[in-house]
Amino acid sequence: MTLSTDITLPANIQPVFPCRCVVCGEESSDTAKISADAQGFIVSFFVPLMSLLGRKKIEFPICPECKPRFFRQRWIRSLICWSIIIVVVFVALPYFQGWNRSVTKLAVLGIGIAAVVPQLIFEVFFPRWFDITASKETVDYEFKSEDYATDFYVLNREAFPDVEILVDNELVNNADEIAD
Ligand SMILES: [Zn+2]
Repeated sequence: MTLSTDITLPANIQPVFPCRCVVCGEESSDTAKISADAQGFIVSFFVPLMSLLGRKKIEFPICPECKPRFFRQRWIRSLICWSIIIVVVFVALPYFQGWNRSVTKLAVLGIGIAAVVPQLIFEVFFPRWFDITASKETVDYEFKSEDYATDFYVLNREAFPDVEILVDNELVNNADEIAD
């Protein structure tokens, strides 16, 4: 069983990454950029304004060999999630004909969320190599590799001694406190 190790930093700082590929862990000077989505994009599906608030691009190291794998995993997982939501909503909508509009909206919202729960659980137990989820004040950096996450923590602790850094939602002041 693998769970991701999540490091939370304030949204206003530009994080320092180890000079290693997030996928294979080998040294790499190459980078790629992703914007924060994951759970965020499900929320933004229902509340378009959220995506305007939370959108943030992060550049991270990845070697040229791993780039296609990384983006394929990301693309396929997002596509599956969107397909589930769209199919379920379209299958469910006809059942609400004649219902009050706001009741229908709430019901379809509930059904949409319920439909993606299995995939969210899958994402927890089979985390992506790397992902970010941004909120207004903080950004979660989610790493599949705990080693990589620990290196990331240490570098950012050194670079920003005064900021609050959370590891798996707990305040951590030095690397020794990161539980196995
Ligand atoms: Zn790599």
